[in-house]
Amino acid sequence: MQTHVVDHPLVAHKLTVLRDEETDSPTFRRLAEELVTLLAYEATREVRTESVNITTPVSDAVGVKLASPKPLVVPILRAGLGMLEGMVRLLPTAEVGFLGMIRDEDTLKASTYAERLPDDLSGRQCFVLDPMLATGGTLAAAINFLVERGADHITAICLLAAPEGCERLEKDLAGLDIPVTVVTAAMDEKLNEKGYIVPGLGDAGDRLYGVVG
Ligand code: URA
Repeated sequence: MQTHVVDHPLVAHKLTVLRDEETDSPTFRRLAEELVTLLAYEATREVRTESVNITTPVSDAVGVKLASPKPLVVPILRAGLGMLEGMVRLLPTAEVGFLGMIRDEDTLKASTYAERLPDDLSGRQCFVLDPMLATGGTLAAAINFLVERGADHITAICLLAAPEGCERLEKDLAGLDIPVTVVTAAMDEKLNEKGYIVPGLGDAGDRLYGVVG
């Protein structure tokens, strides 16, 4: 697994405003989208392309276009939805699938409670959207789910990551023989006793959509 922390002043600026508890939900949503678009630029470096012949007003030329099958963008519900617009702005021809993951509070194991994805993901590059790589359990389960369906190249885009989550992901995905990359705006210090990223930005779902009782 490769981890890529995007080092760019605009990324750092937008992330700082997201972290600030004074930032309201509408601003948080807009900035999260903008930040994802910047992260997506880095995360799509390996997106598959094929050559295409075109004619410019001046001459024939060879260019590139995104290869088939199209990349698949997979937001993890609920907070991953807040990253979707920012991602498809950069990759408008991608297809979008949805994955709902829930954690059993007794076993602490994450499982799938909803999915809308192609049955066969053979040859598909998948971009998983999950804002907070905290314990890593949910993201690991989501990646394993996609690989079982045949995905052969996975990039996770996270606004923030914690070292504990990255370690867990490395361990849980050690048996996979496909490339997995995590692209994030920052690697924070640690998790607290409640599993929140420190300093973090709080509960990403609540900050995006408000607290659901
Ligand atoms: N999920 C969140 O929304 N925030 C955290 O800090 C950790 C997990």
